[in-house]
Amino acid sequence: MSELVKRNASELVELLQSGEVTSVELTQAFLDRIEKLNPLLNSFLHVNTKEALATAAEVDRKRAAGEKLPKLAGLPIAVKDNLTTTDAPTTAGSKILEGWIPQYDATVVKLLREEMMPILGKTNLDEFAMGSSTEFSAYGPSRNPWDTDRIPGGSGGGSSSAVAGFLAPLAIGSDTGGSIRFPAAVTGTVGVKPTYGAVSRYGLIALASSLDQIGPVARNVLDAALLSDVITGYDKHDSTSLPESLGSMVEAAKSGSLKGVRVGVIKELSGEGFQPGVKALFNESLELMVKAGAEIVEVSCPSFEYAIAAYYLILPAEASSNLAKFDSVRFGMRVTPEGNPTIERVMAATREAGFGPEVKRRIILGTYALSSGYYDAYYGSAQKVRTLIQRDFAAAFEKADVLVSPTAPTTAFKFGEKLEDPLAMYLNDIATIPANLAGTPGISIPNGLASEDGLPSGIQLLAPAREDKRLYAIGAALEALQEGVWGKRMIDFAPEVKAGA
Ligand code: GLN
Repeated sequence: MSELVKRNASELVELLQSGEVTSVELTQAFLDRIEKLNPLLNSFLHVNTKEALATAAEVDRKRAAGEKLPKLAGLPIAVKDNLTTTDAPTTAGSKILEGWIPQYDATVVKLLREEMMPILGKTNLDEFAMGSSTEFSAYGPSRNPWDTDRIPGGSGGGSSSAVAGFLAPLAIGSDTGGSIRFPAAVTGTVGVKPTYGAVSRYGLIALASSLDQIGPVARNVLDAALLSDVITGYDKHDSTSLPESLGSMVEAAKSGSLKGVRVGVIKELSGEGFQPGVKALFNESLELMVKAGAEIVEVSCPSFEYAIAAYYLILPAEASSNLAKFDSVRFGMRVTPEGNPTIERVMAATREAGFGPEVKRRIILGTYALSSGYYDAYYGSAQKVRTLIQRDFAAAFEKADVLVSPTAPTTAFKFGEKLEDPLAMYLNDIATIPANLAGTPGISIPNGLASEDGLPSGIQLLAPAREDKRLYAIGAALEALQEGVWGKRMIDFAPEVKAGA
């Protein structure tokens, strides 16, 4: 393997800026790796070879001419396939959008283009980002580079496997209930869900609009910060976009310290149901933080118990409405039944053929929850729980600067293990969902290899809304402590992925 692809994004930026490596060389190195490993990992649904190399060549030409370039110019990146791109198909992992090429770029994609980052391609996901394993992608699952018989997390398993398998130095994800943070935890990478509204959702194919947030996928906290500083900011095309600046995450990541930090351990997310090895690693990290001057406080968030139930009413309700537009008329697929079909029968046949089982399950659930007779009992109650969860957070942040928990109850599971049991699949997100319901930011950072199976686990840090900087500062400080103990980055423990294995 070219050692270049293993370097952190921050190091690659320096190599590009100093002229030690050209963007074409770097982009080609990742494209070579993709060519070799994508048949096995299925991280990318579409590879943008020509366009990526064209951007790279333009960066090299401008650099050679001494022109001023954006900071990350020439650094390749992968984009989750639920963001619209004018130069590549956008499927959202669904058959219903097969072959659709959008007429406009998502704001985040536009920002990446302005930064002159070559876009390597579009990464795999569970259909419309519904799932935790990529097993619900209509284009087959992605594989976890640590063990290719296991899931890379979901829904953003394409982005996490690409970054963990060194197919891309950075990637974009979207997180509605954990789809950036859960994949990060099970692949030994870093994933961030920013404060709701911090990153524009314009051009993101909506799953649940009040929960969705776009964020960075990276190999370490500083790299995530570099990407965050590119994609964060006000956008008039997104009515929920935050007008104020949240500051520089790179500066935060470089100035982090744990001295005097009050770290709140969420009682409800550290007890039952967590794999013993995952819990043991979590406790070790708490000890490390204490040694570095942090104070551990226990906080209780009693309403978190109802987070999954509330989420699985609010999400399907919003999704059933968001997905109504896939009607065979405006986008992608159209199935015309035999005979003399009415428009209703064409729509029904298209949606029957175009949507997979999980999407159908959620449309039915959501439509039911919103039906007039049940609206108050289900959707109304779920919204009340949402308020209670926000209050739990507010009370906890009186006592603590950040809250912590394991990101996920277990390490990566095997393909098929949870496919027949939707509730078991939903439980993966027990620790990540509360932040989506409250609109607050969260980061997952690698937290060592579990003793039972030698697979990566993650630790999640949560901060109050708009305090994303705190996550980068404290996350980077914890990461430095861990790497001090391990002697290297966690990703360097990953076994070499063998093509054709
Ligand atoms: N696994 C969660 C779900 O299936 C999270 C999805 C997401 O964040 N996009 O809804």
